[in-house]
Amino acid sequence: MKKISMVVPCYNEEGNVKLFFEDVLNTYKDSKKYKIELIFVNDGSSDNTLNELKEISKTTDFVVKILSFSRNFGKESVLYAGLKAATGDYTVLIDADMQQPPRMTLKMAEILDADKLVDCVCYYQESRIEGKLMSKIKGMFYGLMNKVSDVKLKQGASDFRMFRKNVKEALLSLEERCRFTKGIFSWVGFNTSYLPYTPLERVNGTSKWGSYKLFKYALEGIVSFSTKPLKLATILGLVLSLLSGIYLFVVLIQKIFIGIDIPGYPTIITLILLIGGIQLFCIGIIGEYISKIYMESKKRPIYIVKEEITNDKKVK
Ligand code: UDP
Ligand code: MG
Repeated sequence: MKKISMVVPCYNEEGNVKLFFEDVLNTYKDSKKYKIELIFVNDGSSDNTLNELKEISKTTDFVVKILSFSRNFGKESVLYAGLKAATGDYTVLIDADMQQPPRMTLKMAEILDADKLVDCVCYYQESRIEGKLMSKIKGMFYGLMNKVSDVKLKQGASDFRMFRKNVKEALLSLEERCRFTKGIFSWVGFNTSYLPYTPLERVNGTSKWGSYKLFKYALEGIVSFSTKPLKLATILGLVLSLLSGIYLFVVLIQKIFIGIDIPGYPTIITLILLIGGIQLFCIGIIGEYISKIYMESKKRPIYIVKEEITNDKKVK
């Protein structure tokens, strides 16, 4: 019998976690092939999520582990904590909001069983449920990321993945604080098989990913997995020097041979603003990398657990 560890991030998911659990129960309660270890990570929820999780753990024979963080640390930290707690032959990362139905994990497990060469099974969004503009922006991000970084991301590939122990160990060996999970998955490699899916609508609550948070996440992805933006500063500097040389040459020709006086004021203002802008832009890029070095050098823990609860009789 294979053990599947389900790592479930929960941030204000009251109402959803019970539906989630019921779906897991219906899918696996009579299974002869798989047993389930549920790892719920409560990411500093301010609603009734933690109590609902505790109730679930009391009423079931499935092993349930609950890690409750001292505050909201973000989904990336949650996934790291969940992976550390996972002991199964297979580990699956799955959201608590029912957009990724637990019954779909069965297919992933069967693929891993059937093909020893596949290390990881990943669902990717074939059609996006968000608006046209958002899908376009997300599409552009994937394109940019694949151009500038060494890791290659598959369009629409989600965190909804199941993988073997070797992949889990590899993911845990990357101990960085700035955790861009999509990039980390690609960086560790392994054979990944992709399955298309369309995420369902959220049952309760709202998405925690606003446009600003997504923008920050995208920026983090680029800075974490590429140093190309730093080279951009060098290239911009070179191009500007070249252009200013050409401009000087043109002005001299006009003055000496044609006798045209170039009115200087607008040109100077425009150039000062342009060069000032480019310099600030480049300092901003360098700043992004320095801030990452700063945060990593502090070596703060990735998360802090306030409460740990389990119904696992072996642990008690
Ligand atoms: N989540 C979390 N911490 C956060 C934000 C989200 O643990 O700071 C969890 C959330 O409870 C859900 C999953 O991560 O189970 C995905 O979040 P959400 O549904 O808001 O993202 P979306 O599906 O809109 O991308
Ligand atoms: Mg969601």
